[in-house]
Amino acid sequence: MTVDSIVAGAGIWGCTVARRLAEAGRKVLVLEKRPVVGGNVRCEIDEETGIEIHKYGSHIFHTHIPEVWEFVNRFVKFNGYQHKVLAWYQGKTYFLPLGLALINKFFGIELKPGEVADFMADEAHSKAIFDAFFRGYTSKQWGKPPEEIDPSIIKRVPVRSNYDVNYFNDYNQGIPLTGYNSLFERLLDHPNIEVRCNAEIRLEGNDLKVGGDDLPNVPVYYSGPIDALFDYRFGHLPWRTLRLETEKLAVKDYQGTSVVNYTEANVPYTRIHEFKHYHPEQKDVMECENTIIMREYSASWKLGDEPYYPIDNAESRELLAKYQSEAVKVEKLVVGGRLGGYKYYDMDRSIEASLKVALD
Ligand SMILES: Cc1cc2nc3c(=O)[nH]c(=O)nc-3n(C[C@H](O)[C@H](O)[C@H](O)COP(=O)(O)OP(=O)(O)OC[C@H]3O[C@@H](n4cnc5c(N)ncnc54)[C@H](O)[C@@H]3O)c2cc1C
Repeated sequence: MTVDSIVAGAGIWGCTVARRLAEAGRKVLVLEKRPVVGGNVRCEIDEETGIEIHKYGSHIFHTHIPEVWEFVNRFVKFNGYQHKVLAWYQGKTYFLPLGLALINKFFGIELKPGEVADFMADEAHSKAIFDAFFRGYTSKQWGKPPEEIDPSIIKRVPVRSNYDVNYFNDYNQGIPLTGYNSLFERLLDHPNIEVRCNAEIRLEGNDLKVGGDDLPNVPVYYSGPIDALFDYRFGHLPWRTLRLETEKLAVKDYQGTSVVNYTEANVPYTRIHEFKHYHPEQKDVMECENTIIMREYSASWKLGDEPYYPIDNAESRELLAKYQSEAVKVEKLVVGGRLGGYKYYDMDRSIEASLKVALD
């Protein structure tokens, strides 16, 4: 195949760009550093139980963007799973997000919808909620002592004055019926697309190379880390990473739901995920006598760790701007995705961004 476009990075951003290029008649070579495609949305199926394990943490597809929903539904159908998250605090569980269910249970009261705003405007109430559900969790997530977490963040947390415990506001939600990996297989299943894994693209001098070999002089759509591309010449962009501990348990149902947040600072993990709950339609999996859970610990990042959450501050913004001004100097290079943009994107925002990329 004579290649006339290169996509480096086969996450959701790169695979969407590759598909668009292929459908526009370009011959696309997809280069992926890892041995498999899918980026951080990649899953593994446990052979014994059939449980789909989200290797890089739980991923729930949710969107209110019609073009994105239409686009993904060309490739996979969704199971209609609606995401709910529980919070565990001092031995009791509460429904998130912050709304009537949580407030009434926590304070042992029976507020009506019209009474929520006034109740939460009382500092003592909002402080009690902040201390129980936000202070410890935020301190673990960002690696700061609990006393350093700014209590004013509670003012920015939306409060629902109803019993809606759906975690996301988006009408369209779900998990692909055939699993996340099938989304990537189908996006890349096009006669104009060739995929090469274990292929890391690097900039040597002014030239992009893979495994030391020159690339054809064609547009390159890159979604790896922007600082890695320039060999960290100005320093590393800072990230938070996660330690994810997976365990198979000889119980049918461990926690009765897919995600429980542990909000106290003295519990070392932030969340426990239980994957079988993402596919309630898979009766055999649900009935299986085993389950698989994942404990999520937030940790500081060093080179070589998986980058998960960018740390947005004045210093990182300045560093990012330096790399961005280098990137525009590289001919025919388009940088995007969460690593290229150094930005947290949900999957739908990633697809939205890649649907907007101008194709050369
Ligand atoms: C813990 C966590 C949970 C999340 N949960 C949700 C959720 O529930 N719902 C939701 O919508 N979104 C969620 N997200 C966001 C979601 O993971 C991202 O939107 C998505 O992964 C972004 O895709 P991407 O293609 O930009 O990046 P990635 O998925 O990171 O893909 C980038 C790819 O580029 C490859 N690569 C890197 N460098 C090179 C190179 N030099 N050459 C070749 N290839 C390279 C990488 O190996 C990788 O495969 C979550 C994110 C995190 C961190």
